[in-house]
Amino acid sequence: MTAPAPVFVVTGPSGAGKGTLIRGLVERIPELEVAVSATTRPQRPGEEDGREYWFLSDEEFRRRDAEGGFLEWVEYVSRWRYGTLRSEIERIAAHGRICVLELELEGALRVQEETAAACTIFIAADVAELERRLRERATESTGEIDDRIALARHQLEQAHRFRYMVRNDDVVRAGEVLSAIVERELVLASVSSSVSAGSQTERA
Ligand code: 5GP
Repeated sequence: MTAPAPVFVVTGPSGAGKGTLIRGLVERIPELEVAVSATTRPQRPGEEDGREYWFLSDEEFRRRDAEGGFLEWVEYVSRWRYGTLRSEIERIAAHGRICVLELELEGALRVQEETAAACTIFIAADVAELERRLRERATESTGEIDDRIALARHQLEQAHRFRYMVRNDDVVRAGEVLSAIVERELVLASVSSSVSAGSQTERA
């Protein structure tokens, strides 16, 4: 029996720098691959369908959900839907690669409860810094930005519910800490699978 490959779930408030940290992580550890989520939110300038997200209509999203196509999905800022496609996770596993999911908190908690192999990592940031980044990014309306900031404040209090927490006040240091966590978990997963393979051999 081999231990299932870990699925890394990176979560945290919008604006905490999850995207930047994940890009750095995948560059450092090439066996990782980020699953592309589906969303109904409009495409932002510079985004590509199938790269940042699969941009779906509401109707298409519902159809995929009815077919059982999502591991989890949420309605975020009570408006847009975001969901993890099972097909993405299967595709990544079929290539013998390790899956990374970038999810908001509710979805991350759901995956943590339902997937034994999930390793959740919460990215935290200082509230004032978060607010600055969100306003700087400001592609949404002011009301939507205010909603995201209020949500981010609430979300920062939820860090303890996840396996690891990385504070992103210095992106270089945070990137190093994140890689160290992932590398350690990968070693533990391969150690536990070789230990169980070894004990089977002894019993045989
Ligand atoms: P944004 O609109 O800024 O790209 O993303 C908003 C939030 O949705 C981010 O916190 C991001 O992590 C989260 N998100 C992206 N894809 C998924 C998904 O498939 N499921 C869940 N639960 N959250 C997602």
